[in-house]
Amino acid sequence: ESIIVAKDVEKWYSNNFHVLKGVSLTVNKGEVVVLMGPSGSGKSTFIRTFNGLEPYQKGSIEIDGMHISHNLKNIEMVRREVGMVFQQFNLFPHLTVLKNVTLAPIHLRGMSKAKAEDMSMQLLERVGIAHQANKYPGQLSGGQQQRVAIARALAMQPKVMLFDEPTSALDPEMVREVLDVMRSLARSGMTMVCVTHEVGFAREVADRVIFLADGLLVEDTTPANFFNNP
Ligand code: ADP
Ligand code: ADP
Repeated sequence: ESIIVAKDVEKWYSNNFHVLKGVSLTVNKGEVVVLMGPSGSGKSTFIRTFNGLEPYQKGSIEIDGMHISHNLKNIEMVRREVGMVFQQFNLFPHLTVLKNVTLAPIHLRGMSKAKAEDMSMQLLERVGIAHQANKYPGQLSGGQQQRVAIARALAMQPKVMLFDEPTSALDPEMVREVLDVMRSLARSGMTMVCVTHEVGFAREVADRVIFLADGLLVEDTTPANFFNNP
């Protein structure tokens, strides 16, 4: 059963730079897709269109049957269904870890504070940060902050999780703790699309590897195929 259906997505800028030249991708429920390709090939732009973060000009995108408008009209609705984790964790520095996680469920989903805190503590537990709940992001390591960012995205109970180079800003020793959380999320059945250069993760966790080059999807195959055929 498909949950992401992107068809012939095109995007260009006013300087005529065509960043997406007609990219199609269907992702089934529970699938983990890793998106690879050279810098500037359009990976980040492509997944941002799934979250209503990036307007596009042609094609269509549906997430679980919900159309994502070209011009970001239904952005609020989309953000409830699609969680995203960025390279730079983007936590609110003036809020505690717990408040970072409870913010969206309380203000966007209308959850009671008590219920949101309860759920958020469970999520923080799941990413191994429960004991840091009352600290501020600046008091945490990069790896810990990224795990909080994952918990924050999960707090909206999204249908799909997008990861945009989630470990690229981390010191090497912290990469693994973030990949471990992503691996366990994948095992729990979450549908995930991940832009990452982590070959080990792609080999072990991905169901499919997609390769973008110059705004075109040039490969869509299994990790075994992808990494064995140069
Ligand atoms: P548009 O001009 O297509 O509506 P934007 O408002 O996002 O898109 O454009 C911002 C400006 O940045 C544009 O004038 C664009 O030409 C310019 N720009 C050109 N090349 C780049 C680039 N490589 N990265 C970011 N901005 C760029
Ligand atoms: P990747 O994630 O594969 O590195 P991106 O999706 O970030 O690729 O690629 C974006 C491309 O679009 C880059 O080549 C960047 O220079 C270009 N770009 C971004 N914003 C603009 C803009 N406003 N105008 C023109 N080009 C842009």
